[in-house]
Amino acid sequence: MPIDFDHHALAQRIRFGSGKAAQILAEEVAERGAKRIMLIASEYEQTLARVVTKDIEILVDHRDVAPHVPIDKARSARTIAAENGVDLIVCVGGGSTTGLAKAVALTSGIPIVAVPTTYAGSEATNVWGITEESRKTTGVANVVLPGTIIYDASLTVSLPKELSIASGMNGMAHCVDSMWAPRSNPIARSLAEEGIRALAKGLRGIAHDGSDMEAREWALFGAYASASSFSSAGSGLHHKICHVLGGRFDLPHAQTHTVILPHVLAFNVSASAEADERIARALGATSALAGLDALYEELDAPRALGDFEFLRENIAESVELVMEVVPPSNPRLVTSDDLTELLENAFVGNRSVFV
Ligand code: NAD
Repeated sequence: MPIDFDHHALAQRIRFGSGKAAQILAEEVAERGAKRIMLIASEYEQTLARVVTKDIEILVDHRDVAPHVPIDKARSARTIAAENGVDLIVCVGGGSTTGLAKAVALTSGIPIVAVPTTYAGSEATNVWGITEESRKTTGVANVVLPGTIIYDASLTVSLPKELSIASGMNGMAHCVDSMWAPRSNPIARSLAEEGIRALAKGLRGIAHDGSDMEAREWALFGAYASASSFSSAGSGLHHKICHVLGGRFDLPHAQTHTVILPHVLAFNVSASAEADERIARALGATSALAGLDALYEELDAPRALGDFEFLRENIAESVELVMEVVPPSNPRLVTSDDLTELLENAFVGNRSVFV
């Protein structure tokens, strides 16, 4: 096949070091000459935020964070930032917290230093999302891209095992979907393969011992690689399905990605030999499906949508909504019957899709 593609490399500084977030943040603030700093971290993330910001002066301590960035919360954070003449946003937390920081940056252009504490990966993309009247709108804008990311694995040790695994599998889904997403390209697929390798290694270690710092570092590194590949490749079939399910039925983000991933892989992999080869290689398995199945078993990862307050009668509506957004780049033609079968399998957590 000819090598012919269009890849956008995002300009970010990535600083990695366990136990070093406070020191690195102080350096960042000094280098940038920032004087009026807005800290965004939810109430639940305060312990982590205190550790990270202990050596800098905070002007605005903003805690009003909610999942999927409700528009009223975005507006009030924007007003507070403007009234206080904020010149740097520091966000410490998961994807919801990073999402609010991005919503402020979107309209103000205020730079962000992101300190992620989950494996969602929002910090490494230029994608923003805001929810209004139960509908999440997403968009792409370089102004929301954090200028610096500080990865400190010690901040993720408090993330419970189940949430760590679901969050990491959310990253894994970025990687797998990057194999066939609309702007998929050799750079995105290389990053995705590396992300799968790193996440699998990290999550296996975390499942065994949640305080294993090296495993936490691999998971964070994998989260960055996964988000970078996703940012380059865009949303494939997997993300379109999860976006519909999460937005319409308010399902938990990371767990929904975890449940749907094997079913999209099972559907697409027969039509993508490169994806099969890359994913299998990254998972040290004979095939992508066998590798993912073994990983789910080892991690005891969630498998059934029915466990997350999703009802079987929601399948028909979900199929209709997903059919409207199936990416033309998908390696297999997708019919309503295919999607119905996929969601039926995901609903009960049917493992026969792996054979
Ligand atoms: P989240 O940010 O909602 O966090 C989940 C929970 O974990 C929260 O209660 C949070 O306070 C807690 N938490 C965070 N870090 C912790 C830690 N270290 N220890 C203990 N508890 C901790 O969930 P998430 O999965 O990180 O992010 C999901 C959101 O991110 C969704 O809205 C999703 O759409 C968005 N997202 C956006 C992008 C993007 O590119 N824009 C990419 C991935 C995810």
